[in-house]
Amino acid sequence: MCQKAIYPGSFDPITYGHIDIIKRALKIFDEVIVAVANNSSKQPLFSTEERVKMIKQATKDFDRITVESFDGLVIDYAHKKRISVIIRGLRMISDFEYEFQMALTNRKLAPDVETIYLMPSESYCYISSKLLKEAAYLGADISNFVPKFIEKAIKAKL
Ligand code: ADP
Repeated sequence: MCQKAIYPGSFDPITYGHIDIIKRALKIFDEVIVAVANNSSKQPLFSTEERVKMIKQATKDFDRITVESFDGLVIDYAHKKRISVIIRGLRMISDFEYEFQMALTNRKLAPDVETIYLMPSESYCYISSKLLKEAAYLGADISNFVPKFIEKAIKAKL
């Protein structure tokens, strides 16, 4: 049986940290669906379509990956796709509280869906899309955190 997992998130924009998690997930699962949340309460810098397109470009050399957007709850999306594993990344202790709450809420709502956490390489542990947008806004070189075309896209937006 082909084991699939969903990696949901805002990806505003995708960073080397997200890419690290995708690579690790591909070692465990036959197919990974990167799912861009369309209904994020956060005000994204990039539209959903732009985020999907950027992920596709950043992962163009990977096999076994699909990128799409979804509306509503991730567990409803998982049910629709008949996938029972959600992947999330854990960077720091600070991620833990929110992720733990979300995993337990999702488990209560959908006991058939399991959330699995993967840790990135320590070089990417401190990267967040939010922080690097702020750094780019202040003129920082963010080439260590995102592919070149994403750095350009961020700078063009800002
Ligand atoms: P969300 O708004 O759903 O948190 P993000 O794009 O910020 O969306 O994150 C999606 C997932 O990727 C989350 O599980 C987050 O912890 C993880 N993630 C984000 N940045 C990194 C990183 N640098 N290393 C590992 N995981 C990360």
